[in-house]
Amino acid sequence: MKAVEPALVEAAEAAVRAACAVCRSVTARGGGIAHALKSDQSPVTIADYAAQAVVMNELVQRIGELRVVGEEDATDLRTAAALRDAVVTAVRVAWPTADTKRVLEAIDRGSAREPAERYWTLDPIDGTKGFLAGRHYAVCLALVEGETPVLGVLGCPNLAMQPGDAAAANDGALFVAARGHPPWMRALDKKDAPRQFLAPVHRDRPQSVVVTHSVERGHSSLESLGEVLAHVEIDAVMRPVDSQAKYALVARGDAHAYLRIPQEVQRVETVWDHAAGVAIARATGNVATDLRGRPLDFSACPFMVRNRGIVCAHPSLHGDLIEAIDALGLG
Ligand code: AMP
Ligand code: MG
Repeated sequence: MKAVEPALVEAAEAAVRAACAVCRSVTARGGGIAHALKSDQSPVTIADYAAQAVVMNELVQRIGELRVVGEEDATDLRTAAALRDAVVTAVRVAWPTADTKRVLEAIDRGSAREPAERYWTLDPIDGTKGFLAGRHYAVCLALVEGETPVLGVLGCPNLAMQPGDAAAANDGALFVAARGHPPWMRALDKKDAPRQFLAPVHRDRPQSVVVTHSVERGHSSLESLGEVLAHVEIDAVMRPVDSQAKYALVARGDAHAYLRIPQEVQRVETVWDHAAGVAIARATGNVATDLRGRPLDFSACPFMVRNRGIVCAHPSLHGDLIEAIDALGLG
């Protein structure tokens, strides 16, 4: 398997870093408020749109034409002048020469939906509810080949570089995993800070298990998660965290499992909610599948129709979790 070209890795890292700067500036100016509810009742903010525009501009400048399946499109912005102007203002933090026309074009250029053998996927702000509440959120960008993400970049503006370092929580951390390269993290604000390589997870089962899950109760069943942990007789420390920052925690061993057990039977995951995080968690040796242990198939895009839910866990735990889910009929 060919290593991902360094120019693509660099472009993706720069794009995510720029988008995180935009998100932070929106928060600092008091613009981190919900402006609309999308059809699935999830909120959208100035920063969701601005982050998508900035990522697209960076990628197109550095790589040229590319197919990006991003969560947002500019349709609603075309008829909402005040929101549109606020988005353009926010974008200029990272793209000073931006104007309305180019911002709308950039957002729409990142809203491809047709399937392709190789494509990028972007969640400009994953965990918008976390962003709004001052909790965790993440800018998530991945490159998918066939069924698999081969490059993932996660920008986590409210995550400390060192676990538990509350004083540095707002330094932010950026995670990169690319096929053929060792995975690393780097301080979000410091482009030239050295890479801190992520160690592969230890083979043995961790002595004390930390399990991470959604903060939002509607996104994943905490009750079912409790049943699964009781079944495998694990007395875990629970760590609710918004967004794909959960995958980053599993990648660096702060947590040992992330389970997503949909509340609704018909719930289907989208590629932009998982591709980058899965690449990063897998890069240090964790296993990521759906609730039945099936490989995650990112060629089903944007809706992951061949999977249901997520189990991303330390290799010593993953099999037992899947067995418990099966025994309890939760898959
Ligand atoms: P998390 O912070 O892990 O709960 O994930 C945030 C993501 O949950 C958002 O990007 C949404 O795509 C997704 N989401 C929104 N509504 C639901 C729902 N009802 N069930 C599961 N996931 C959802
Ligand atoms: Mg999302």
